[in-house]
Amino acid sequence: MPELPEVETVVRTLRPRLLGAVAAAVWTSGKGLRLARPVDRAVLARLSMAARITAVRRKGKYILIDLDRGQAGILVHLGMSGRLRVQAATEPRAPHTHVVWSLVGGDELRFVDPRRFGWVAASQNVDALPEVAGLGPDALNEVDVGRLRALLAASRAPLKSFLLDQKRVAGLGNIYVCEALFRSRLHPRTPAHRAASRAAALLRAIRAVLRVALANRGTSMRDFVDAEGRSGDNAAALLVYGRAGEPCRVCAAPVRRSLDSGRSTFYCPRCQRR
Ligand SMILES: [Zn+2]
Repeated sequence: MPELPEVETVVRTLRPRLLGAVAAAVWTSGKGLRLARPVDRAVLARLSMAARITAVRRKGKYILIDLDRGQAGILVHLGMSGRLRVQAATEPRAPHTHVVWSLVGGDELRFVDPRRFGWVAASQNVDALPEVAGLGPDALNEVDVGRLRALLAASRAPLKSFLLDQKRVAGLGNIYVCEALFRSRLHPRTPAHRAASRAAALLRAIRAVLRVALANRGTSMRDFVDAEGRSGDNAAALLVYGRAGEPCRVCAAPVRRSLDSGRSTFYCPRCQRR
């Protein structure tokens, strides 16, 4: 599932292709996406037709495309398998294409999502959409030590679920939470409030894993590609995620994998004590 570095990589590769672009037509497949809801094509068409794209940005795991109509914009969530790409209209559309914006000049912005956990919506005020307004501070560029310490102190949730909760800190998913906890030597099940005094170390670790992943243009575990169709190179830089049974890079103890509510947690039982 694309997390902050993958979404940011898509944004960075989309931006030069989309800034200044104008949509001339909008097509949707009519199939249900996240929560089996189909995209509201009428609103999408009304807001994006003939509007110029003024910015492509990210908040948490959401891609926001601003239009030159007040606060209007388009929101895209890649879900598990979503891809957002700009391609020439003459190139064949991939299977599982669900939204297409035909751009003036002959390109198309295409949203492809085989597993259909992604989401696309348009709004007069894109930042006020509940999906965006409900997000906590962005893990890369908004959260600071004081804020993180206060959030930790107020929660008894295990650290792993605390960091996965987008309402507390936005952008992290399973891979980078495992990596950040390993780097800060914190056990995934430690209650958040017990780690409040370690907020600075945790934030340093979060930023370090995100920056490395961004420099590698994201992690392609299964099928992540950027807006140009390129895979990311970060899988080789992961220290614990996906390495169950392999030696810890710090102490050589075997990396352990546990299953919490259907998600794998990878950690070193020796480096990360409760
Ligand atoms: Zn270790």
